Order: sequence, then C-alpha cells, then structure tokens
Amino acid sequence: MRVNWRHTRGTTNTFSVLSAALEQAGWRLHETDRPAGEVTCYSLNVANEGELLAEIESADCTTIAGGPSATGRWRDVARTADYVVVGEGERTLPLLLDAIEAGSLKPIPGTATARDGLVLPGHAVLLDAFPPFGPRRGYIECSRGCPHDCAYCQTPRLFPGGMRHRSIDACAEAARALTDVRFVTPNALAYGSGGRTPRLEKVRRLLTAVTRKGARVWFGTFPSEVRPEFVTDEALDLVREFCANSRVHLGIQSGSDRVLGFIGRGHTLDDGLTAVDRIRDHGLEPAVDVILGFPFETDQEQEATLDLVRHLAARGCRIHAHRFTPLPGTPLAGHPSRPILPAVYRVFGRLALEGRLTGSVLERG
Ligand code: SF4
Repeated sequence: MRVNWRHTRGTTNTFSVLSAALEQAGWRLHETDRPAGEVTCYSLNVANEGELLAEIESADCTTIAGGPSATGRWRDVARTADYVVVGEGERTLPLLLDAIEAGSLKPIPGTATARDGLVLPGHAVLLDAFPPFGPRRGYIECSRGCPHDCAYCQTPRLFPGGMRHRSIDACAEAARALTDVRFVTPNALAYGSGGRTPRLEKVRRLLTAVTRKGARVWFGTFPSEVRPEFVTDEALDLVREFCANSRVHLGIQSGSDRVLGFIGRGHTLDDGLTAVDRIRDHGLEPAVDVILGFPFETDQEQEATLDLVRHLAARGCRIHAHRFTPLPGTPLAGHPSRPILPAVYRVFGRLALEGRLTGSVLERG
C-alpha cells in the first residue's frame, strides 16, 4: 500500500518525525503535492487547513489528517477526512496504516472518524522510542509539552500532561548526523525540568554531549525559544560557552500586565524586560515575540505593546510581531482578533524597513 505525505510549507519537520516513526514500523512515507496512492496523510494548521480540507474533500484516495488543527477540531475534520489522528502520531499512525491495509474496522485509539467519533484519547509517546528524524534530517525535538497554559497556545492541548524530554544520549546520537544542531522545544532552557524551575545542570550535560568539532550548536533560538524567567546569568553563560547563536529568542507577548495575566503567561512585563537586559549584558541579541489584537485587549493595552516594541527596538532587539490568531482547541478559539491600530502599522512598517521587525501583524486583515 503506497502511503503519501502531502507536502506543504511549515510541515517539513513533522514529515521528518513521522517518516522516521513509520520507517521503524516498516512503512515508507512518500512526499507528494496532491492526493495520490492508496493513502495520503495531511498535517493541518491554521495556515493551510482551508486549502487542504477542500483538497481532502475531493480526494479519490483514503485520507488521514493530523496536526494542530485536526487535533483541535477533530469533530469537524472527521466529517471531511476518512481518519483523524488526534494528538501525537508516532505510534498511532503506523497502527492505523496497519489496520487500513488489513481492511480492519477495529477502531484505533488516538484516531477519530465520522462513524466512531474519537476512539479513546491518544497517548503521550516516549520521545526516546522514536528517532527525531529519518534520512531527511531535521531538528532534534529534545522536549515536548508544556506545564504553562497560555490561552492562545496549542502546545498544552496537543501534548497534555506537562513536559517530557528526549534523553541526553538520544540527543547526542541524533546530533552526530548534523553539522548544525538545532532543537525543537517550547522552552530550551527548561530541558530536563518539569518546565517551571530550571535544571541547568541537565542543560549543561545536554550541550556538552551534543558539542563536537565541526558542528555548530544552536540553543534558545530558531526553531525554539525561551521563557523570560528562565533567562538567568548562568543560563546565558551556557549559551555563550557552547552555542553558535548570537541571538536568544524569547516570548514577552504583551506590554500590558493585565493582558499577560489574562492570557495566563505566568510572568510579568518586568520579568520580560529583565530577561532582555540580561541577554544584552551577555553580548547576545534578544529576539522578542509579541502578539497584538487579543480579543479583550483595549486600545491602551495595544498601545502599551506598541511602546514595548519601540523600547525594545531602541535597545537593539529584533521583534517578531504576530497578530492574534484564534487557534482550534485553545480557550481563545472562536474569538476573532480585535483591530490593529493605525499607529501600530506606521511604527511597525518603519521598523520592518529598518530590518528590526518581522511578523504577521504587518499583513493587514
Ligand atoms: S509557555 Fe509557550 S509553549 Fe507553554 S503554553 Fe505558553 S506559549 Fe505555549
């Protein structure tokens, strides 16, 4: 049975992860740009779901949808796709393919169909049980899940049960295949911990284990970030000692403490600014995420975020400014973004031209 993976922008690392898991189970995943073969798998997110759901609807093959949007609103997606993988796919997808090939109607845990609904919630996989990537090399997912509960974020809903980690030995083995070693994690500096209190001795051991001549290690920067309260002098010393990155990426998200409280960030604006100062004091460039347009944000609170961005830009930070998007499965799903103030577009446009700011907020909607 030929199993295809519908290639789309932004899902390349998911392909690496799932193709490695499938290969381990005796399946090969082929990339395609349209539904084909006996089975085509899709990873749905808010950026691609409109286009891909229409494609799934008219597909002639069996279709399997997974990913953040499929997990967040599996009931809707199961009306279109033949099967939905809800949550983590490394174990569920091979079992589902086995069942499809065998013509079995026995429901598979972690999947949903229009006929059966959700067959038991999916399970949290042991990261060490699966390689982080196959022949198509990708990033090392060193941690998965998050104990925080930011109201706009899908991570705690996709991966419930807190934070878990790939072992240092498994990370080191994967790193040997890479010349640029990058990590996927919701908070790089939380490696080895429960996600609330740093365990920097584990971060040090991880970085020591993945460091080798001829390879560069990137940590606390793309494609991951860090939380402000984890940015300590000791943590930044580790970045300076082991890593190639000159930038540390952190989320502050809003210039308003009321908004930060409302979205459940678990830190204050002051915590964010202290982290920025520490990063700069260590000779590194802060890259800061902010989000504008929360549904309950007042004009004054949006202006406070604009002031924060001005302040950060004046201090040499790089800014990633996102427009709030109501993501499926989150507490803020179904609450559209509030309008962006004209002053925001003016200031952000200027900062973008200066090369200090990027992000979706610049796309007027
Ligand atoms: S800390 Fe990051 S990963 Fe965790 S819930 Fe908040 S935004 Fe999501």
